[in-house]
Parts: sequence; structure tokens; C-alpha cells
Amino acid sequence: MNKKIYLDNAATTKIRKEVVDEMMKYFMEYYGNPSSGIYELGRTSKEAIEKARKTVATFINADDREIFFTSGGTESDNWAIKGVAFANGDKGKHIITTKIEHHAVLHTCEYLKKFGFETTYLNVDEYGMIDLEELKNSIRPDTILISVMYANNEVGTIQPIEEIGKIAKEHKIIFHTDAVQALGGVRIDVKKENIDLLSMSAHKVHGPKGVGALYIRKGVKLDNFMHGGAQERNKRAGTESVQNIVGFGKAVELMSLELDEKVAKLISLRDRFINGIKANIDDVHLNGHPSKRLPNNVNFSYKYIEGESILLWLDISGISASSGSACTSGSLDPSHVLLATGLDHGTAHGSIRFTISDETTEEEIDYVVGQMKEIVQKLRNMSPLYNTNNK
Ligand code: PLP
Repeated sequence: MNKKIYLDNAATTKIRKEVVDEMMKYFMEYYGNPSSGIYELGRTSKEAIEKARKTVATFINADDREIFFTSGGTESDNWAIKGVAFANGDKGKHIITTKIEHHAVLHTCEYLKKFGFETTYLNVDEYGMIDLEELKNSIRPDTILISVMYANNEVGTIQPIEEIGKIAKEHKIIFHTDAVQALGGVRIDVKKENIDLLSMSAHKVHGPKGVGALYIRKGVKLDNFMHGGAQERNKRAGTESVQNIVGFGKAVELMSLELDEKVAKLISLRDRFINGIKANIDDVHLNGHPSKRLPNNVNFSYKYIEGESILLWLDISGISASSGSACTSGSLDPSHVLLATGLDHGTAHGSIRFTISDETTEEEIDYVVGQMKEIVQKLRNMSPLYNTNNK
């Protein structure tokens, strides 16, 4: 097979043609500033934004007025956490989150230390799941925010969001969830799940990069993050990225129409992949939850070898994936998520995440499993650790 196989859909997804076609109109034809409602060109942009807002709101069972467009998941997470902290700091300065959040959440909580906030980081079990009893026991009179991600970007574990929402509501604590990876993989219902704030990003659902949204339940007290003009009903200043918002709306519209069918297809492909790896390669460990996991996530640790070396060989075969260590970003630290699930440094270093899309085929999966079998054996043959343990 000499075509490229893209299996890093948790990093980003390929934008859909229908999305680009829709966006192009707002680059080339309807370029008015949505704040210039006095003339038609401005009104057209404004209407397009409102249409996208409705689509996103409907998908998560929110009201249109509860959706605020941002520059993506990172800004939504920053806004949710800093916004709650700065608006509710008089009530308390304690935040609860987990050890496996994205850095957009972890680094924001760390930053808030400077302002006197204290964060409790919940543990996860071997499957990456939090313990609801630990959550309840961590709540203090000064807890103002619980931030637990909907689904993890590395291992795909889906948290018990409805139960967390219930606990937060019982204690009158604001509940934020980072749903950047969950969007497109599960049906989300902010009302049923008692979610107060929810972060989304378009580029994970075949939309454009640099746009996302924060759902803010009506009545939740939150400071503004961006200061300036009166856009987004005075809550998020800055001229709206109309074409990106339109693209986000279109991506969510298409995704929502096809979700059930696609999820069923993804689960079948994912399980073929997982079973293929298990059947063909020894000494592997499936990271994440066996069933409560995103339909597109396949994350294994391959004992005795380095994930980075596997990635290089995969790249030579035209396959894109991601590893469980941050070597590529200049650090040798293994993933904080894998360490939190109890993996030792060596095993965490030997991890590879494949994230499929509905364009992935059975033929591609079988090919990648075959390539992995060869690559892992080749690297293990060169590994002193493997040779000592398998004499
Ligand atoms: N949160 C999670 C769980 C993510 O996976 C990501 C991106 O990988 C983000 C937040 C950041 O989103 P964005 O790339 O839109 O800033």
C-alpha cells in the first residue's frame, strides 16, 4: 500500500469539502462585518453566525443564547476556568479537576495559583476513570468549580459525566467539562447531564482550525476573558471569525445528521484494530477503558520499545499516529495521562495512539496491524531489554 494513512484524528481531522465550500462564500462574497448591521452585507454575516449558533446549541440540547464562539478548545477551557475563578473568588478559591486533563485545563489551574486558588487533582484508575467517591470527598465549603473532561484525548476514556453533574448540582458547584474530544463521538445533552460549562473545538469534527465554542448555562457567573467590543452579547470581544464559525456550524450539522451511523461504523473498525493488535503482537497493554472509550481510539503500550521509534517507522510506511510521550515536543517526559493510569515510565514510553475516522477502511486497519507487527518485532530484536527478558 503506498497511499498515506492518517490515523491521528484526535490531533486534528481533515476538513470536509462541504464545510470548505460553505466557508468560501464568507471569505469571498459575504465578507461584511457582523457588527455592521446597518447594511445588508453585515446582516448576512450576522445571520450566518446565528444559524451556526443554533446548530451547535441544538446538538448539545442548549439554548442558542448559551453558545459563545471562541478561537477553539484552549480558549474555551481558559475562559471557563479563569472566568469562574475570577467571578466567584469571593465565595471560595478551591477547584477540583483531574490528573488527566488536557494542558489547556492543567496549566490554567496552575496559573490560578498566583491568585491564591488551590486545585485538587483527582486520581484515575488503571482505565483512566475517576472515582466518584474521591470526587465527593474532595468537595470543600470553598469549592467553586469542578472541571472534568468528558473524554480523554490520549486514552479515550469517557467519564461518568451525568453522575458528576448530579454531584456538582447537589453541592451547588459549577461544573465544567472539556468536551473537545467527545464532540462527534457521543451524543451530548447539557440539560440531562447537568453541565454548566462545556468546551468545544471545530477542528476535531472535520471543521476548521481556530474556532470553537463555550456553552455557558444561563445564570452561571463568569468573568469575561476577552475585553473589547460588544460582540457575542458583550461576553467575548473581537470581530467574529465569520467563515470559521460558519464552517464549525456546517461541520456540526453534518456530524449530527450522521452520528449514530458513523459511531457504529467506528466502533466496529476500532474493535477490529484492537483485536488485530492483541492477536498479532505479544506483550501489549491496552490503555484506556475497554468499553467506556471513544469510538475512534486505539491506544496500546508495546513493552520493551520506544513509541518514538515506532512512529518513525510508521511514518516511513506512510502512516500517521501519535505516541504516549512528549519527545517530539522537546521533552522526554512520558504522558501525564499514562502515568496517572499507573504505567511505569518505560511502558508509558512505548505507547502509540491511533485515532481513526469514518474514512478509515478495514483494509487500512489490517495493513497497519501487519506493519505494527513487523515494526515492533524489528525494534524488539534490537532492544537489550527485550533480549534479556525473552532469553
Ligand atoms: N482539550 C482537549 C481534550 C483536546 O484534545 C484539545 C486539543 O487537542 C484541546 C482541549 C485544545 O483544543 P484546540 O486545539 O481547539 O485549542
